[in-house]
Amino acid sequence: MAASSAAESKDRVINLDHGDPTAYESFWRESGEGAYLKIEGWENMSYFSDRNNLCWFLLPVFETEIRRIHRIVGNATADESRHIVIGNGSSQLFQAALFALSTQPGLTGTSGPMPVVSAAPYYSGYPAAADFLKSTLYKWGGDANTFTPHPSTPHNEAICSPNNPDGRLNNPVLLNQNSNNIHDLAYYWPQYTPITKAADHDIMLFTISKCTGHAGCRLGWALVKDADLARRMVKFVELGTIGVSKDSQHRAAAILRAVSNGYESGGACKLFHFGRKMMAERWERVREVVKAKGAFGLLEYPPPSYCGFLREEATHLPAFAWLKYEGNQDIEDIASYLKTEHSIEARGGRNFGTTDKYVRISLLERQKTFDVFIERLSSIS
Ligand code: PMP
Repeated sequence: MAASSAAESKDRVINLDHGDPTAYESFWRESGEGAYLKIEGWENMSYFSDRNNLCWFLLPVFETEIRRIHRIVGNATADESRHIVIGNGSSQLFQAALFALSTQPGLTGTSGPMPVVSAAPYYSGYPAAADFLKSTLYKWGGDANTFTPHPSTPHNEAICSPNNPDGRLNNPVLLNQNSNNIHDLAYYWPQYTPITKAADHDIMLFTISKCTGHAGCRLGWALVKDADLARRMVKFVELGTIGVSKDSQHRAAAILRAVSNGYESGGACKLFHFGRKMMAERWERVREVVKAKGAFGLLEYPPPSYCGFLREEATHLPAFAWLKYEGNQDIEDIASYLKTEHSIEARGGRNFGTTDKYVRISLLERQKTFDVFIERLSSIS
């Protein structure tokens, strides 16, 4: 590297705060021909995609590819027994699910907004989404581990598995009849974790953002068992954005089709293998530095399991490194320290319902940024 660019990169703040999946860009540059899409000026003009579908703005081609990729990967039941509701990212669908669950018939007489909980450390998007609108229907209720359910008031539990931020495989904490579970399976794809079974929950959320890296498409989907609940989720998306971009759906369908073809028709597009290799290399380097320097601790992940998709034992390779500061310096807020002293921007533990001794670092950034991160992490002892 030339001296001047080394100096530049030394001062540049690297942003590993968001889980922005730009790491996949290099894959799509090289292997993405099958995802090429041409849209004519006259196409996709109507609001409607399929008036006969419960989710009237869902394009049949996108629906086909969603069901197909789940069948190929085996990570979720997505046959005709499930209704598909799409949203502008799974972020919109999380809100839609909260709306749908808190407006179920027969809920009258329960007191106050329905609590929304999740086991800490939980995805920082959940409290924000639950409280942003100061809804009278639902509100953030905190850590599911310390939450005491009301005997007659239902609550909603968000279960993220593999978990953002720490990669753990989570199950519901609150097991009683007042629990509505929203299973956020954004990271239940073979590059991050072995696929051990087809998830079969009442409400499951997925997003193209973490599956293929196309966060800019803003497309998520929910697999929903109950038709009435699905209908209310559709209503929420209808009222907020009158559906979801058809251009985006065509693009997402083309992307998913390219991935599925890569596995079903022997195409070149082996996305999950690329993702696994990349994540394995990145984790090896993170572990190496963490072990050598001793300033940070990492969680122990479950042992490798048999992955039905890969047909071999596979390790857990979470999308984030969840680091705990264990060094000798008196540092309470490790995210601030990383930013001011090492120009690494990352998200502090407080955002996830725990302490700022923890920090979440995205491992999904472009290779150059990841390399700079490793270089900087190596200088902390
Ligand atoms: N759930 C989890 C656990 C996430 O990490 C994210 C993105 N950071 C989302 C949902 C939202 O994804 P999107 O809105 O891009 O579909």
